[in-house]
Amino acid sequence: MTSAPTIGVLALQGDVREHVRALSASGARAVAVRRQAELEAVDALVLPGGESTTMWKLAEAFELLEPLRMRVKSGMPTYGSCAGMIMLADRIEGGVEGQQTLGGIDMVVRRNAFGRQVDSFEASLDFAGRGRLRAVFIRAPWVESVGADVEVLGRAEPGDRIVAVRQGPLLATSFHPELTGDTRVHSYFVEMVREL
Ligand code: GLN
Repeated sequence: MTSAPTIGVLALQGDVREHVRALSASGARAVAVRRQAELEAVDALVLPGGESTTMWKLAEAFELLEPLRMRVKSGMPTYGSCAGMIMLADRIEGGVEGQQTLGGIDMVVRRNAFGRQVDSFEASLDFAGRGRLRAVFIRAPWVESVGADVEVLGRAEPGDRIVAVRQGPLLATSFHPELTGDTRVHSYFVEMVREL
């Protein structure tokens, strides 16, 4: 892919604008996605932070849940941050009754995991061998366990928990890189999109 890839940000709920800004700063053409036709037009997608239960219910109401699952399954590069990470998990702990995800990454994600100890915090962590970055966690999940095909890209204190993972074209972080002005995570994703 030589020209700028078109990357959608699922715009049902959550911090959409911040992701659009970070993607644009990372060399992508970023667009908001609310409908199936918009979803079909993008090369890749970001699932923003917000509230995974709300995102799931709105995706159902907007008839996007199945189209999203299909595109993720067919290999569309997708990056989920915080609530977006929950959406990409094959299995979740601590969800509400009946809570559904899109799935795609062979992992168990614990919802509101750090939140039981402390609601929001910052940590410095190594991301994908690209040096240390400041990570912002807001009622964040952590990754409880991963399957053999999942690459761990970052861990954080407290507890040395897994907070960044990749499985093929799917990337997920517990934290919110869109809030810090550091575009290394978004640049990593844009590179993934260009390579795939
Ligand atoms: N706790 C939220 C959820 O369950 C995620 C929080 C976030 O995205 N900042 O979806």
